[in-house]
Amino acid sequence: GMTKRTPLIAGNWKMNLDHLQAVALVQKLHWTLKDAKHEDGSVEVAVFPPFTDIRSVQTLIDADRIPFTLGAQDLSTHDDGAYTGEVSGAFLAKLDVKQVIIGHSERREYHAEGDDVVAAKVAAALKHGLVPVICVGETSEDLEKFGASAVPVAQLEKALAGVSSDADIVVAYEPVWAIGSGQAATPQQAQEVCAKLREVIASSLGAEAAARTRVLYGGSVKSANIASFMREPDVDGALVGGASLKVDEFAAIIRFEK
Ligand code: PGA
Repeated sequence: GMTKRTPLIAGNWKMNLDHLQAVALVQKLHWTLKDAKHEDGSVEVAVFPPFTDIRSVQTLIDADRIPFTLGAQDLSTHDDGAYTGEVSGAFLAKLDVKQVIIGHSERREYHAEGDDVVAAKVAAALKHGLVPVICVGETSEDLEKFGASAVPVAQLEKALAGVSSDADIVVAYEPVWAIGSGQAATPQQAQEVCAKLREVIASSLGAEAAARTRVLYGGSVKSANIASFMREPDVDGALVGGASLKVDEFAAIIRFEK
């Protein structure tokens, strides 16, 4: 039968907005979205601020009962100890962080995070009750050599190797060439790869997990193209970078109509 998956619109702020700017943006976004459909739970809105903003955003969300999910952009593979500069999933969970981005192409490229590190971070997130938002995607070189799906499929297989079938996860297909470029994938391209990623979830975690797990598209999503992605059957939402920093633009993305 049909499993209804709640669409997820996730804002990855990257290294933008200090805690004061973060509070201002979340307040404005909440006000702009008054009576929008996320209020009744038909769309989940998540924000992923820098670590230094998380306490401030958590306090605001809690005080004003703002229906946004709080996320983080990274976590340590370790629980605690002598790991200077690292942040534990345990600490994030204590601040009501629910989701954590893992394997973003900027971490893979600038911090040399390979599939082994990604798998260890997925395990760490799940251990602390956080939902890993597992990012996969091909570079333009990969695209030329192997086509669109081979690299993201292989990345996801490795990320899910140690995951149990009842784990709560999110998968984000983000072609590296589409990130921050203004050149989004076509809805057809996104659908094709997201469908293959759902097959990976099915073979790794089973049919039930494949039916309930949200698979997002990311890479130059904006208000003008969100609806075309959301019409695709295997695209359950979007991971939004640049456009999540602009209140009206992000609100318009959240208000998408198919
Ligand atoms: P973009 O970034 O929306 O600015 O292309 C997406 C991402 O990196 O998650």
